[in-house]
Amino acid sequence: MLSEDIRADRTVLPLATPEDDPLLRLQAETQTSGEVHLRCTTHPEEITITGITVMCARCSARRDWMVICDRNTVSIRCRCSHQWVECELSRQDFEGLIDSGGEYFPSLEAAAQCAGYDGTLAGTYLAERR
Ligand SMILES: [Zn+2]
Repeated sequence: MLSEDIRADRTVLPLATPEDDPLLRLQAETQTSGEVHLRCTTHPEEITITGITVMCARCSARRDWMVICDRNTVSIRCRCSHQWVECELSRQDFEGLIDSGGEYFPSLEAAAQCAGYDGTLAGTYLAERR
């Protein structure tokens, strides 16, 4: 009886992890190589989510955001280069922010270079300069 229980447990396969699943692993590698197709928009005004004005946890800014859409994940980035995933925002919300003003960019790289949100890229420039 006891041995049968153990055997039953072993038939339960663990959930796929990025290391086990070739497709998930490919997605992870694509993201780290920077080839994932992000879309960004700047948003000079305040953003209010469920009645609460978005505020940067690092520098307490309340406006002048960059909003980044990666598939169905929307992130908000501050001028101070602090960035976080905003779970309350959907792809539809992102589309709405594009329509409400600001500047639209087809990739994070283009946006960072044009809009001055490239604080995290400073080290890259220094390394290339020699
Ligand atoms: Zn900030």
